[in-house]
Amino acid sequence: MKSIQLRIPGPTPCPPDVLEATGKQMINHRGPEFAAMVNKITVRLKEFYQTKNDVFILTGSGTGSMEAAIVNVLSPGDKVLSVSNGEFGDRFGSMAGTFGANVTKLNFEHGLVVDPDKVKQALQADPGIEAVLVTHNETSTGVTNDLATISKIVKGAGKLLIVDGISSVGSIDLPTDAWGCDVVVTGSQKGWMVPPGLAFISMSQEAWKAHATARMPRFYWDVTRAKKMLEKGQTPWTPAVSIFFALEVALEDIAKEGFSNVIARHARVARKARSDAKSLGLSLLVADESYASNTVTAIKSPEGVDCSKLLKLLQEEYGVVLSGGQGSLTGKIFRIGHLGWVNEADIAEVTKALKLALPKVGFKV
Ligand SMILES: *Cc1c(COP(=O)(O)O)cnc(C)c1O
Repeated sequence: MKSIQLRIPGPTPCPPDVLEATGKQMINHRGPEFAAMVNKITVRLKEFYQTKNDVFILTGSGTGSMEAAIVNVLSPGDKVLSVSNGEFGDRFGSMAGTFGANVTKLNFEHGLVVDPDKVKQALQADPGIEAVLVTHNETSTGVTNDLATISKIVKGAGKLLIVDGISSVGSIDLPTDAWGCDVVVTGSQKGWMVPPGLAFISMSQEAWKAHATARMPRFYWDVTRAKKMLEKGQTPWTPAVSIFFALEVALEDIAKEGFSNVIARHARVARKARSDAKSLGLSLLVADESYASNTVTAIKSPEGVDCSKLLKLLQEEYGVVLSGGQGSLTGKIFRIGHLGWVNEADIAEVTKALKLALPKVGFKV
C-alpha cells in the first residue's frame, strides 16, 4: 500500500523490491558484476523499446537524453523541424537551437494533437529540412501524438526522426523499429518505476550514419564512447550504480507482468482517470479524447477554483500529490500522473480525495 498517493508524471512511486535494490552495496563499475548487469538490462530495454537498434543507458535525467539525441546526430546549421504541442516539445526545439540548429517551429495549441498533415506540408515547404523532432506523449498537456502516422510521413520523406518518448516508452505502445524511429529517448523515473537518474537512447542505422558526420559539440553524451564501452560491459563515465540495481529489478517485474499487459494496464487506468474526472463534473484539457494520454491526465481547473489551493489541500488533507500546469498552463490545469506502478485502486483514491476537496475550494461535484 502507498501511504501517500504520489500521482505526478514522474518521479513515480517505486515498488518495494525496486526500492530495496537501491540500498545494495556499491560494486566496481569496471568489474564483471556490472558487465553482467548492464548486458542483461540492455537486452530487456531493447525488448521494451521493440527494437534491434542499439540502446544505451546514460546517467542523467530525461532532458540529458534529449540533449544526447540532438548533439549526436546534428550539425550546427542543420535545418530541423520542431513539432510541438506543449512544454516538452518546445524544450526540444529550443535545445536544438541552442546547439546551432536552424529550427523551424511547427506549434499546436495546448490540448490539441499534432496534425500529421501539417507536418507533411512543413516538410514539403522546405525540402532542406534534415530532421524532425517530435514528442510522442506531451506530458504537459496529456496528449499522445499519432506517431505512427507522423513517422510514415517523416520517413517517407527520408528525414531523420528524433522522438522524445520520455513519458511513453514502456507505458504506451511505441514500436521503435516498426515505426522507423531513428532516435528515441526516455527516462528512468517515468513509466519504468525506477528513481530518477538514468536515461535511455536508441540509435538506428540511419542515426549512426548521421552521427558519423554530425558536428555538434559533445563529450559526456557521445554515443561512440558509449558504444565502445558497452562492448566491454561498461559505461564511459561512472554510472548511477544504485539506479542500475533498481532498473534491473524493475525490468524483471515488467517482464513478469508481461509487456503487453503493462501497456494494457496503462490504458485501463487512464480510462478510469478520465471517466472519474468527468463524473465529478470536471473537463479534460485534451480536445479530442481519442488522443488522451495513457500516462497523464490533464484536467482544466474549474472556473473560480484556485488550483494551487486545491493541490495544497489534496496533499495536506488527503495525502494525494498531483501536478499543476507548466508554463502558460500554470494555474489553469492540474495533472494526474498514472504511469509505472499504478492500478485502478490508486485512481479510485485520487477520485475520492478530489470529491472531498473540490467542494472546499468552491466547486460543486
Ligand atoms: C519528464 C519529461 C521530460 C523531462 O525529463 P527530465 O527527467 O525532467 O529531465 C521531457 N519530455 C517529456 C515528454 C517528459 O515527460
